[in-house]
Amino acid sequence: MPDLQPTCPTCRRPSGAPSENPAFPFCTDRCRLVDLGAWFNEEYRVPGKPAPTTQEEDPD
Ligand SMILES: [Zn+2]
Repeated sequence: MPDLQPTCPTCRRPSGAPSENPAFPFCTDRCRLVDLGAWFNEEYRVPGKPAPTTQEEDPD
């Protein structure tokens, strides 16, 4: 059956109607901030760059 009830991406609770909920699609503004924080954390999690390997020159 179609799920017409919008749910909060953060806590999965019904987020209500967008016209009545300024934090839509989140249930509350708090959940919106939580999701934003998680998003930024993901952004900061960049894959570790391989350290530049400097070949030691052999001084003759
Ligand atoms: Zn929520």
